[in-house]
Amino acid sequence: MYNNYIFVTSALPYSNGYLHLGHILEFIQTDIWVRYKREVGFKCFYFSGIDAHGTPIMLKAQNEHISPETLINRYYLAYKKDLFNFNINCNSFYSTHSYENEMISKIFFLKLYEKKFIFIKEIYQFYDFNLNVFLPDRYVIGKCPKCFALNQYGDICSKCCASYNAFDLIDPLSKLSGVKPEKKQTKHFFFHLNKFNSFLKKWFNISLSQKQISNKLLEWFNSGLVSWDISRDFPYFGIKIPGEFNKFFYVWLDAPIGYISSIQNFFLKYNINIFNYNVFNLYHFIGKDIIYFHALFWPAILKGVDFILPKKILVHGFLTVNGFKMSKSNNTFILANDFIKQFNAEYLRFYLAYKLNNNIVDIDFNFLDFCNKINSNLISKFLNIISRTSKIIINNYNYMLSSKLNESNLFNDYLNLNKIIMIYYDTLNYSGIIRLIMKYSDKINIYIDNHKPWKLCKDSVTYRMGQEVCTTAINLFLILLMFLKPIMPKLVDNIQCMFVDFRFYGIVLKKPVLNIKIEKYKHVASRIHDLKK
Ligand SMILES: [Zn+2]
Repeated sequence: MYNNYIFVTSALPYSNGYLHLGHILEFIQTDIWVRYKREVGFKCFYFSGIDAHGTPIMLKAQNEHISPETLINRYYLAYKKDLFNFNINCNSFYSTHSYENEMISKIFFLKLYEKKFIFIKEIYQFYDFNLNVFLPDRYVIGKCPKCFALNQYGDICSKCCASYNAFDLIDPLSKLSGVKPEKKQTKHFFFHLNKFNSFLKKWFNISLSQKQISNKLLEWFNSGLVSWDISRDFPYFGIKIPGEFNKFFYVWLDAPIGYISSIQNFFLKYNINIFNYNVFNLYHFIGKDIIYFHALFWPAILKGVDFILPKKILVHGFLTVNGFKMSKSNNTFILANDFIKQFNAEYLRFYLAYKLNNNIVDIDFNFLDFCNKINSNLISKFLNIISRTSKIIINNYNYMLSSKLNESNLFNDYLNLNKIIMIYYDTLNYSGIIRLIMKYSDKINIYIDNHKPWKLCKDSVTYRMGQEVCTTAINLFLILLMFLKPIMPKLVDNIQCMFVDFRFYGIVLKKPVLNIKIEKYKHVASRIHDLKK
């Protein structure tokens, strides 16, 4: 029963800051695909949530003098609101700080341990003898060993981006007590990634088919798969390792398990245990920065516990703003909540769709280009068709569409576009969809201009023809409009409301809309005037 179910996920945003347009890019890309799948009849479910554990969250909560739970709850609520504002339609938006996630993480760990995919090794770590605690990398600060910048964390330098071992820091200090930390031996748990070498090589070819990734993967294999430290010592905000005192799962172990917890949370209300229905199709949408975790550890872990494997991992590039990497210092950091105060959310869905395809390249949000695409393409070109023709119908034909089309061949030609539209949706080539819709909008505008229905309606000889020309243009427009539904669901709904007596289904207009009364076209989208940003 469940083997034709499609479960789709967007990566879980790390809950130590508000969502920005880069996050929204991924949610929009996923949401469009999910809506498309649902429109064409699949049982498609969409899951995400917050990634709520780890040192950065613990540190941020400490700085604000609140508990980590209070912190993550603040972001959880803010994310839910942002997703609602951008019409992102998750079946479950859950949290890795949840009962389900704790249980599933523990079950996975015990199973992997039992099958000897996890081993124990003594390692050295910095220890704060003043407070008697081990110090995670981010609890040690010192001089960067590469560029000598002061006050850098024990993993990555924020100035020169070098990554290193905490022991390499010059003059390291404990962030907690300010004393010089010392090396101390501690027991850690490691995941035997190398045991999955040949499995992963096979799995890649099927599930990571985007060309740009293959080189990256080869690089990893050639340098050898290293065992992965999945444990952290106290102090840590995370899930406790069963049978251990003061040891926790590293956040990257329980974060992807959050996908399954989110699915389980949703199916709980139907009394379904996801472990009993291990036959669905799982698709993960992710950014290129987290390929490593999703392409190596995650499938290996799932294989290790005999859980269903992801069918596809779909990777996108970063979002840049006006040509720059998003950053607060050059004013290119745009929070989702700030964007929504100024613009219609569906404008962003339209614009990003214009730019998104199946390549892993960075996508630029260029503000002038954004205004231009909305004003001249969406409004002046596309929506203008319905605005101008409906006016003629209302003013001259008493709101009535004609009972036949002026050219039924044209209608069929437009309808036939649906085959290519479906391929574009399936292969995430949203850019192809918008380009096609714009190209065929141009043709409708030319058709209207050639026939001049505003003149035809003034002459009794051509009066009927004027009505048929407008009705034809409206029908061609409606075909294109339906194709747009997964991208701009609200706009499509609003325009469909003009045709009260017609039932629309799916994303393909099955038959022409004829001989019915239409409502006035309300302005469903206005031009962007403000270019100051
Ligand atoms: Zn540095």
